[in-house]
Amino acid sequence: MILLFSAAAGQSPQNQSRGEEWVRREEMIKTQLIARGITSARVLEAFQKVPRHRFVPDPYRRYAYADQPLPIGEGQTISQPYIVAYMTEILDIKPGEKVLEIGTGSGYQAAILSEMEALVYSVEINPVLSEMARKALAGTGYENLRLKTGDGYQGWPEHAPYDAVLVTCSPSAIPGPLKEQLAEGGRMIIPVGKQYTIQYLVLLEKKNGKIRQKNVLPVRFVPMVNEKGKNY
Ligand code: SAH
Repeated sequence: MILLFSAAAGQSPQNQSRGEEWVRREEMIKTQLIARGITSARVLEAFQKVPRHRFVPDPYRRYAYADQPLPIGEGQTISQPYIVAYMTEILDIKPGEKVLEIGTGSGYQAAILSEMEALVYSVEINPVLSEMARKALAGTGYENLRLKTGDGYQGWPEHAPYDAVLVTCSPSAIPGPLKEQLAEGGRMIIPVGKQYTIQYLVLLEKKNGKIRQKNVLPVRFVPMVNEKGKNY
């Protein structure tokens, strides 16, 4: 099922009162992001605005600004803030660009991309999480994004090509359809590696129809699975 929102980009509709959570985000940005070398003002601003605690389910909400991934149900996790920032920064997203995310999960990364004023398309294979993300995103007022429940290995061909592709689950090799759906000049960041082995975030760039890629950071993500639950 495709959940369609309107396309008004570039707003920060959620409650921006500078209360306790705002201060916790300032602290998170200083100690977890800036301290580790995140410099993009646009990325840091997005982290200040998005209410991360609203994307974390109740028992873990009090840890929402901690320096770690957290369970979001269905055996899945919301990534550590630094990893979300790193992946967002390296894609160098400009306003109005089309971005495909694979693995909506909590919806937090999608909200960050929305704050970057991208047109966000996000695919999640797990219907329970997809529905939770839809509610969290609607509840915080994010509108310049579209969600789809389905197997992201296939990308989302109807809206291709994408200026950026961000994958938050790990296949053992880079899916061909995602490479094909990358626009000329497009960038992709994706964790690649078999489960229980070292995975690397791989950065790909398509220039003159050719793809160049390099490993940029060792990471650990949940596996990319197909609809039968088998790892890619
Ligand atoms: N970006 C998320 C992180 C989610 S964890 C956030 O900000 O919270 C990775 C997600 O990828 C999980 O929700 C998992 O269900 C999903 N996933 C795994 N395989 C997938 C596939 N083939 N297509 C789409 N989503 C997939």
